[in-house]
Amino acid sequence: MALAALLTGLALLGVAGGVLLHRGISSYLAAAGGLLLFAVAFIWIVPEITAVWGWPQTILGLALVVVLMAVSDGALIRLGHSPRHGVIAPLLLATALHSLLDGWSIRTLASQPVPIALVPIGLSLHKIPEGFALGWVLRRSISSHLRAISLGAVAEVFTLVGALIEPAADRFGLARFGASWTPAVLCVIAGAFLFLGCHALLPYFKHEH
Ligand SMILES: [Zn+2]
Repeated sequence: MALAALLTGLALLGVAGGVLLHRGISSYLAAAGGLLLFAVAFIWIVPEITAVWGWPQTILGLALVVVLMAVSDGALIRLGHSPRHGVIAPLLLATALHSLLDGWSIRTLASQPVPIALVPIGLSLHKIPEGFALGWVLRRSISSHLRAISLGAVAEVFTLVGALIEPAADRFGLARFGASWTPAVLCVIAGAFLFLGCHALLPYFKHEH
């Protein structure tokens, strides 16, 4: 929970920075965090999934998660480019859902054989640029700084909610779905990390940063 609180704090700093500073975020933080999450997914999480599911089902599951994230992200980017009143709600909702998964991931992976510091470092590095991007979009659409920061903060606080509900949800999932629950959860987390990794690193290959 302390780690989830730290992640939330970093995201809130990012939101405030995005609202109050007009530009100047370095994308290096995002790229470093993305690279680390990519490595964690491939080296430590994917083998846990293939041990239960085998490779074909694992690849299928990961591909499904990555495509779903890419589709929802593409929709959000289009919204972000033309921020008007009314498009902020889906952006906040998507950030809240994503933050829920961030908090959930950090708590789930604490009980998995992943080196203890890598997940928190990777997630921390992406949390600041994530909050910054959200704050920047909110700032362009909402005239009051305080209101923009408050709305961004509400979305990012779902990181804590994700970490809070994880143990109970995990118990419920195991009771309801049995042995297929854990690989399914790990598949969503690994798919999300792979997506975040690609997302943070792609601009470097296209020289767009
Ligand atoms: Zn995140």
